[in-house]
Amino acid sequence: MESYDVIVIGAGHAGIEAALASSRMGSTTLMLTLRQDSIGRMSCNPAIGGVGKAQLVREVDALGGQMGRAADCCGIQFRMLNASKGAAVQSLRAQVDMDLYARYMQEVVRQQDNLFVLEAEAKGFEARGGSLQAVVTDKGSFGCRAAVLCPGTFLDGKVHVGLQSFSAGRINEPAAQALAGNLALLGFRLLRFKTGTCPRLRRQSIDFSRLLVQEGDIRPRAFSFSTERLNTNQVPCHITHTNSQTHTIIRENLDRSPLYTGVIKSTGVRYCPSIEDKVVKFPDKERHQVFLEPQGHNTDEIYPNGLSTSLPEDVQLRFIRSIDGLEAAEVARFGYGIEHTVIDATQLDPTLEAKGVRNLFCAGQINGTTGYEEAAAQGLVAGVNASLRAKEKKLFVLDRSSSYTGVLIDDLTTKGTNEPYRMFTSRVEYRLILRQDNADLRLSRIGYELGLLGEAQYRRAAGKQEQLREAMRFLKDTRVKPGPKVNERLRQRHTAALRRGTTLEGLLKRPQVRFSDLRFFNEGIDVAAELEEQLELEIKYSGFIDRQRAEVERFRNLEKIRLPSEMDFRLVRGLSKEIQEKLERFRPVNLGQASRISGVTPAAVSLLMVYLKKYNAEQKT
Ligand SMILES: Cc1cc2nc3c(=O)[nH]c(=O)nc-3n(C[C@H](O)[C@H](O)[C@H](O)COP(=O)(O)OP(=O)(O)OC[C@H]3O[C@@H](n4cnc5c(N)ncnc54)[C@H](O)[C@@H]3O)c2cc1C
Repeated sequence: MESYDVIVIGAGHAGIEAALASSRMGSTTLMLTLRQDSIGRMSCNPAIGGVGKAQLVREVDALGGQMGRAADCCGIQFRMLNASKGAAVQSLRAQVDMDLYARYMQEVVRQQDNLFVLEAEAKGFEARGGSLQAVVTDKGSFGCRAAVLCPGTFLDGKVHVGLQSFSAGRINEPAAQALAGNLALLGFRLLRFKTGTCPRLRRQSIDFSRLLVQEGDIRPRAFSFSTERLNTNQVPCHITHTNSQTHTIIRENLDRSPLYTGVIKSTGVRYCPSIEDKVVKFPDKERHQVFLEPQGHNTDEIYPNGLSTSLPEDVQLRFIRSIDGLEAAEVARFGYGIEHTVIDATQLDPTLEAKGVRNLFCAGQINGTTGYEEAAAQGLVAGVNASLRAKEKKLFVLDRSSSYTGVLIDDLTTKGTNEPYRMFTSRVEYRLILRQDNADLRLSRIGYELGLLGEAQYRRAAGKQEQLREAMRFLKDTRVKPGPKVNERLRQRHTAALRRGTTLEGLLKRPQVRFSDLRFFNEGIDVAAELEEQLELEIKYSGFIDRQRAEVERFRNLEKIRLPSEMDFRLVRGLSKEIQEKLERFRPVNLGQASRISGVTPAAVSLLMVYLKKYNAEQKT
């Protein structure tokens, strides 16, 4: 049987990062896809990043992944969301040229050493003694040391348009039928989730003249820490709104909606509802915003963001044409809903390896998430671990204090999810420290040590760290004396005059003083523009940041206390039966993870700690 170190099933956003990571780490990797020409395809919106998601993209980049570089290369409009709010929630979003994005990824995959692509359908697995040996496909079986499963929305996918439904992985692509059954046979608990997409409109048929224009940022920022220059040929988006007539058409046709007639039973994406959901759930809202987003430079398709729907085609056409600017709109493709199978991700370790089937890792939509960025971040971690497993090395975990990726994976594997999971800044307890601007400082070293990040990028991050340290020292050590010129400047900034000397740091701590003002007080400041914002933030919020760092320290102490894999939780005296059963089922890997399982109380954690002390002492004797 032909054999590989790692087999990656799927060539979407998770599969690509997994396959690139594994092959870049030197493992011979086979990537399976149902269609070669759909590698890197964006199933839904033509955008990368956004609130909570940009942080994931930057982390993927800092670890040596591809998504950030692809978005920079294929971006057609860049905007910093929440620019007027705190840095912890600022997030970059880019509209991208969808066709270019897929072609870019296909080229990267094609050029990657150690990576082979086969158009084949994975149908099942061969496992022996609870450990994976081979992947069975319609083109034969392939042996492997580890596999990463990233089948996206394709697992038993069922597309709905009105009351019609048919089997598909997404529109015009077949579903993966056999795999879900085989996963159930391997002991996976399966759930059904639902998502949906908007119709696509023809650009020439839209009257943009009356619509609000939304331009990209004047000084666009890149996702990748290695991008030196962005293509600034940005395209505008336009904004329109639904109205009472749109809502009436939708309401009158709910008896033809698969969502409202009970045809779709699965749980949908709460934060990305269909237009019919919005109309029903917010009856008092007179209108909903619709962003008209171009899908690329060379396509005439426009994505009407906000109009996701699975209503019948004739209803879609009617409600679209009731919207300002869309009166004569022609539909290039109709919207649809899709139901698909996912696994209960609490059956995975924080390495993304299946607890019941060793050497099998899962990433992306199959773990209950929705979104390209969530998929990419998991794909990278799973690909790294599959490669490490193939080399019989210790696996790698990103914890909640290290990254958004760590939070995402911990949420999935510790708590699980009963609805499609999307990343948000609010899910991240240490978000003042885990920002999009410092992902390189947090993770580049790990990426470099794994063999994913190039020497130049790693050196750049290390150099930036050193510059920050020096600049911080300078701001702390450099004093400013009171005087008429200094106090006049402070008066202009609406802040109190100096009565005695202070440091540049002391001045920057004042909310009214910006970093750019400091040059007025001292001409010797020599700091790269990209670091100014970071320094300002670290100084202005130093009280909160220090508090979070102390919390992280406490958090890490609990994470360090490992729970032996053979541990019998029924022997821990004082634990309630319910908690014992929960711990037996979840099998947490450390005390920190145990403490986050719902229902596990602080008292139970103390009992575990006492038990472990005794257990470890006994092991030593
Ligand atoms: C209709 C629709 C609407 C969506 N709406 C949104 C949205 O509003 N917001 C949002 O954030 N996300 C949305 N998504 C989800 C987003 O597309 C996914 O989260 C993301 O693409 C998941 O990436 P992935 O790598 O897990 O899977 P995908 O990108 O779906 O890639 C799956 C890959 O697996 C391959 N594959 C599947 N089964 C097999 C098999 N048995 N053998 C070999 N290869 C196989 C496929 O060929 C494909 O290459 C939507 C998706 C769809 C389909």
